[in-house]
Parts: sequence; C-alpha cells; structure tokens
Amino acid sequence: MKETAHLVHEYLRSSKKFPHIWCAGCGIGIFMQALIRVIDQIGYSKDDIVLVSGIGCSGRLPVYVDFNTLHTTHGRALTFATGIKLAKPRLKVITIMGDGDAIAIGGNHLIHAARRNVEVASFVINNNVYGMTGGQCSPTTPYKAKTTSSPYGNLEPDFDICRVVEAAGAAFVARSTVYHTRLLDQLIGKALKKKGFAMVEVVSQCVTYSGRWLGLDSPVEMMKWQKNNAIRVEKARELGETALKGKIVTGVLVDRERPSYCEEYGKLL
Ligand code: SF4
Repeated sequence: MKETAHLVHEYLRSSKKFPHIWCAGCGIGIFMQALIRVIDQIGYSKDDIVLVSGIGCSGRLPVYVDFNTLHTTHGRALTFATGIKLAKPRLKVITIMGDGDAIAIGGNHLIHAARRNVEVASFVINNNVYGMTGGQCSPTTPYKAKTTSSPYGNLEPDFDICRVVEAAGAAFVARSTVYHTRLLDQLIGKALKKKGFAMVEVVSQCVTYSGRWLGLDSPVEMMKWQKNNAIRVEKARELGETALKGKIVTGVLVDRERPSYCEEYGKLL
C-alpha cells in the first residue's frame, strides 16, 4: 500500500525550523494540528493566512508553519494583527497567544481588540502558567495553586478569559480543551469564518509545570482531567455557580453580530 504523508507535513517548515522546542506531551502541538486541519478543510491558500504571535511556548507556533507569519514582542500579537488586517483586509489574520501573553502582558490589547471588534481570529492556549520562563503564576493560575513563584500557594483569584472578552464586546467567544479535538476543530472553523473579533480559549496541558501542582504527572492524566472536568455550555446553563466550580465550560459561549472595525474603517476610506 502506498504511504501518504500526514497532512501536517504539507504545512510545516520541517527542513528549517525543527526540532521544535515543545516538551513531549505538551498540548500546543495538538492545537497546531487542529488549526492546520481546519485551514486545509476550509481551503485557504497558504498565502491567504497570516499567523501572528507574541512570546512564550505558544508564541513559537507560527515559526513552524509555512504561512505568512510574524513572531512579535510579548503581549503585542493583537496590535500587529490589527495593523495587518487594516492594511490588507483580504487576508485571514490569526493570532496565537498563551495565557500570560494574552491576558497579562497583552491584556489591554485583548480588551480593546474585542471592543473594536477587529476581524481577527484569536486563539488563547491556556495552560494556567508561564511555561517558557519556568512555571511562574499567570493570571489564569488557580487560587492557592503552588507554582515556581507561589511556593506557598497563589494568593490571587484567576481570570476567566472568556468572560473578560465577552464583556469587552467580542463577536464570538468559545472554549474547548485539546482533549476535545472534534469540538476544537468546529470552534476553530467558526472563529476563522466570523466577521468580527473571535476568541477561542484552548485549555491545554503544560506537562512540565502546571501538571506538578495539579498532582498530575503525565500528559495522559492531564488530558483525562480535561475530559472529566469539561461540561458543555448548554448543560452548564442549567447549573448554578457552585456546581460549576472547577469545571471547564466548553462550546460556543457568545456568537453575535456587531459592526466590525474593519468594515467601518473601509467605509470611511
Ligand atoms: Fe508545553 Fe509547558 Fe513545555 Fe512550554 S514548558 S512546551 S507549555 S509543556
């Protein structure tokens, strides 16, 4: 039987940029494959896509794929993405950010990109920790969690990224885990097609750091944890706050129509 190359190899810069930096079992690679799969299914050409990232383990993703790509400074993916979209509206502009990149250093840009409703498909890979720099607390690290920078437990409550972006006005807000790959593919597709600011939070595992403080020391255990703690938004709406404590609410959380900044800017021009 003729062997066919895995789809992902059509999109990787495998002769230039490998080996990659990700730890074995990290969830970022699962997301990268899902993104490639959906881009291929929709039928975008490589030249139609611009992938923009900031800094961090997730920020390395655009380096490995053969689209138009930009690896920018920490927290600034959305500022570059906004400029690209306004200058070249026909391009499909995508940002890849980690939780620290998106909601700490880049938090202000995330809020205002959502408020402006800039047509950018934005993916926040949330592993609840700063992985690249050694496992420090991020704004999504759970309260009381022990990390490199909170050895006695985190004193801060964690951010719900989806709620922040919803309140700021994003047209599309959704959440999946990397365990739920079919749902992840669906949400990536919806975000890519949305005429407005779309943000998908992708709950992922940092096996090297956040696995330790969860008491889960293998990628398989971490993905089982995602499976066992996820709850679909339709079911979650029937439950109260107490029942949802510690749960990962997945699915489409917001899908609404608002004038996009790009359309308004186009009319003005
Ligand atoms: Fe992934 Fe964590 Fe390793 Fe970074 S440090 S590559 S997030 S497992």
